[in-house]
Amino acid sequence: MSKYTRVRGTQDFLPERAELLHFINESAVSFFENYGYRLIITPTFENSELFKRSVGESTDIIQKEMYEFKDKGGRDLALRPEGTASVVRAYIENNLGELPKPVKLIYVSQMFRYERPQAGRYREFWQIGAEAIGSPDPALDAEVIELCLNFLNSLAVKDLKLIINSMGCRNCRPGYIKVLKKFLSEKEALFCKTCSQRIEQNPLRVFDCKQKECQKVLSEAPKISDYICEEDKEHFEKVKIYLKTLNVEFVIDPHLVRGFDYYTRTAFEITLSSLGSQDAIAGGGRYDYLIKDYGGPDEPAIGFAFGTERIMLAFENQNITVFTEPEPDVFVAWVEEAQKSDALRISAMLREKHLRVSMAFDSRKLKSQLKLADKLNANTALIVGEEEIKSGKYTFKDLESAKQEKLTIEEVVNKFKDNK
Ligand SMILES: [Zn+2]
Ligand SMILES: [Zn+2]
Repeated sequence: MSKYTRVRGTQDFLPERAELLHFINESAVSFFENYGYRLIITPTFENSELFKRSVGESTDIIQKEMYEFKDKGGRDLALRPEGTASVVRAYIENNLGELPKPVKLIYVSQMFRYERPQAGRYREFWQIGAEAIGSPDPALDAEVIELCLNFLNSLAVKDLKLIINSMGCRNCRPGYIKVLKKFLSEKEALFCKTCSQRIEQNPLRVFDCKQKECQKVLSEAPKISDYICEEDKEHFEKVKIYLKTLNVEFVIDPHLVRGFDYYTRTAFEITLSSLGSQDAIAGGGRYDYLIKDYGGPDEPAIGFAFGTERIMLAFENQNITVFTEPEPDVFVAWVEEAQKSDALRISAMLREKHLRVSMAFDSRKLKSQLKLADKLNANTALIVGEEEIKSGKYTFKDLESAKQEKLTIEEVVNKFKDNK
């Protein structure tokens, strides 16, 4: 037993999963590039205040889940629980608003939340997120939603469902919240403990509850769509029209409200029924005031984020395999210790020619080296003995057919040229 174990809620990505994660991240960056997004990398930690302001003091994230700490200089810092706040901070701080609008940024990074660990949910987890800043155009909403969905389609993730709604704006939402609060307060006794706590502090969050009893009461709750202003309604209508233009199928859920305080107007979620109760794979929406709230220009924006582990879970559930173990093209074996340095040198030469090469270390007999080559699923072996070094012709063995021939290094390289 190791003296140490990983911290609860964290994960080791062993090679196969690490490669899958890397593949998904890289695919996202290149896929998003086709829509004009460019990669941004922000720090893992920021001033706590940044997140409190954007996500909202009354949310679970801030109250219970944020990893907050003081550094040795006494600064109040937090590991980022989400990506948008950091991107917006960087956008303002680096004057990215001077770029042609909308400014489109993608991030691929770890997030940290002190949540109860469960299937596909970790305390350190990965997100792929996108932010398009500087346009209120509903056509941009449609493009962003289509990108989100299309990326998952490109990965062959099936059975996706897109849910959209409008969350209104700062002028009309307070009116709705008042009506909602009244409704919820009257039914308070019917709700679970978490919900009844939320009614006072953050009534929109009640919709997050997965409990059947609460959901039943909520199905009769007033709908935000009946309370949003004319401008929001018009905006939402256009989003729907543009989505139809793009042949994107959607369902309107009048009770879809995204968790963070900064969301306005279009909100959306992509769910995957095979993920069970944790069925959201991506979510996003407009946040038209956040940049101004942070002291930046008055620029509306929209963004979304994927839970990368959820995508990986979908891969597992659908038995999508992306990788096979990389097997060596050539296994370089040496006959005696005296030829080990030649084997080392020849391995390096072959790698320079872009071949995948392994060799044996430690004291081993040739026979045991070839057994190792077998275990590694090497396709061929190159045997380096005294004779071979003298003549410059090496024994090259096809490990599948067991056929062998004498070849120079150049001839060995040429063998692979046709297949590479
Ligand atoms: Zn409004
Ligand atoms: Zn509840």
